[in-house]
Amino acid sequence: MEATESVLCTLLAVDLNDYCYRVCSRCQRVLPSVNNNGLAYSSFCKFCKSNEPKLLYRILMSIATDTSVKTVICFDRVATVLFGCSADEFFHFTKLNPKAASMVDKVFDGEMLRMTLTRPHNRNAQHMRVASVVPLRSGFQPAIVTLTELCTKNASLGNCSTTKS
Ligand SMILES: [Zn+2]
Repeated sequence: MEATESVLCTLLAVDLNDYCYRVCSRCQRVLPSVNNNGLAYSSFCKFCKSNEPKLLYRILMSIATDTSVKTVICFDRVATVLFGCSADEFFHFTKLNPKAASMVDKVFDGEMLRMTLTRPHNRNAQHMRVASVVPLRSGFQPAIVTLTELCTKNASLGNCSTTKS
């Protein structure tokens, strides 16, 4: 089995329950998302003593190739291609539009992609990692563009909807 493979696939589902993690924007070290009490968290980086966190994507996606269905993990650079904005921007967008996260699955439903998958060096890692992604549909637009259109169109209703006219 090769360490890297290129696949044509259809995107089936995007798991946004836990789609990002926080790092220190100066030294890129991962910051804990919860403290020892499991409650509030600190943005303070004890390594470089800064307090400038940023979010990075880390998303599990289900894809179907012509031979199998699998779950792959998608990190910041690749996810930014699909979402069209940084994880921080997406996070704020979902705060303003609480239904947006639940609409992502529908926005991406059936999207055809060419992915390069790599097998992680860490043998404990469960999922193949997406090294690159190329949307194949000619009318592809990043999720944030579609979501912004949907939420703007439905703003007068105070509601987002994925119903396409
Ligand atoms: Zn730091």
